[in-house]
Amino acid sequence: MKKAEKVAEIGRILEELYPNPPVPLDHTSNYTLLIAVLLSAQCTDKRVNLTTPELFAKADTPQEMVKLSVEEIKGIIRPCGLSPRKSQAIWDLSHILLNKHGGEVPQTFEELEALPGVGHKTASVVMAQAFDVPAFPVDTHIHRLAYRWGLSTGKNVDKTEKDLKRLFPKEIWNDLHLQIIFFGREHCPARGHDPYVCPICSKFGRKTLFK
Ligand code: SF4
Repeated sequence: MKKAEKVAEIGRILEELYPNPPVPLDHTSNYTLLIAVLLSAQCTDKRVNLTTPELFAKADTPQEMVKLSVEEIKGIIRPCGLSPRKSQAIWDLSHILLNKHGGEVPQTFEELEALPGVGHKTASVVMAQAFDVPAFPVDTHIHRLAYRWGLSTGKNVDKTEKDLKRLFPKEIWNDLHLQIIFFGREHCPARGHDPYVCPICSKFGRKTLFK
């Protein structure tokens, strides 16, 4: 099977398995999405969703967030890990949103990535999920699967992002990154998998694995 056929087949199977992939992080606005994505760094989405209700009940806008102290924010978000750094970033970025962006979440990669605690992956999630701008945030699942499917060399996440953007049409990036994440969680764990029953690799034969 040629690579282009494999790519098309992977896209087709993922679309069949996850036709309308939901955004995994609970949020009610662009601002709460940004905060939830920031909290999800090195933490599970499940844990973030258990933690944000308490935080957002106290502050779900930058105006309300800066009225809390960094210590208060830290106490609430502790279960998500890295709480000293994340709480400071949440307070600082809320302050910047108020002073530089009229209290709104900016809509460009440059402005988002200039915010404290916001790297390229976080900015990509916000661009895709809040503003519907095509982006391809690569997390550990996507990085691992792209390598296992022989679609990228696995060198680093930047390379994986470039390779996947080259292989798949822009129009499907926003759904596709979520579909790969859901597939990775459900079927393609870091350890333990059965290529003969797997919904994707069973279609390609064992040779296509681990290139
Ligand atoms: S066989 Fe393994 S590598 Fe291939 S998709 Fe399934 S779980 Fe992932």
